[in-house]
Amino acid sequence: MRYLQCGHCARHSALKSGYITFCDHCGKKFPLTFAAWQAHHPQGSFEEFAEETGISEEARQAAERKSQHWIFTIRQKAALITGIVVLVACSTLGAWYGPGLVKMFSKPTVPAAMLETGNWRTFRGNVLRLQTPLSLSPADRKDMPNLRFKAFTGGGRAEGLEITMEEAIFLSHSQVDLEPSARKAADVLARQKGVSQFSYSEKRVQLNGAPAMWQQGSYVQDHSAPMEFSSLVVVKGGISVQVLVIHPGNDSTGRRVAEEVLKSAQMN
Ligand SMILES: [Zn+2]
Repeated sequence: MRYLQCGHCARHSALKSGYITFCDHCGKKFPLTFAAWQAHHPQGSFEEFAEETGISEEARQAAERKSQHWIFTIRQKAALITGIVVLVACSTLGAWYGPGLVKMFSKPTVPAAMLETGNWRTFRGNVLRLQTPLSLSPADRKDMPNLRFKAFTGGGRAEGLEITMEEAIFLSHSQVDLEPSARKAADVLARQKGVSQFSYSEKRVQLNGAPAMWQQGSYVQDHSAPMEFSSLVVVKGGISVQVLVIHPGNDSTGRRVAEEVLKSAQMN
């Protein structure tokens, strides 16, 4: 048996008789039929037509194998390319949105590694210096008439802990009082966006012989996240300084870090 190749789908159909006109596979007409060939070969038999235009069984099998192999490699390549595209897309999305997703789905906690005070660094403000597990960098604060702010902050909700040192410099006062300064500092936190159920207690402490106020309290952020804070307020001349540590509520590591940070505070 010999086989005729289709001009459309390139597959082979058996030349079973002289009446074969259409491809077995796609149904399209063959480029050359026996009848058309016979017009040019009036003496030609079907066997001669088959010999001249068709291919042998072995040649057909080899051709089919080759085309299947070719299709297979195309599929393999397509799968490989799809795999690479998906991988690149996933890692790109992961890089862009990963940290955000982690923040969204995990309840932040203060990592125990933050308690390794040997790794802490010294941060020195204008009035106070302290030991901190996070590096503090300048933060923007809006000045008010006769009042200049200098703020430094480190960490945030993603880190589980936020440490802020804020200095309020009263330009028209050579001396400010501790109690109103401490109350004002707590007030600023209570009025932050999304803060509710704010409560705190405070006690007077001594810091290198200077009076200071130690505040501890809690609030709910955005109606969903219970938070706690520890704050130390000290005044020197016309400057009021607050060291504020905020961490998730009921986080014992956060409480211990906050306590260590405030205990490390020293007047310059
Ligand atoms: Zn065909």
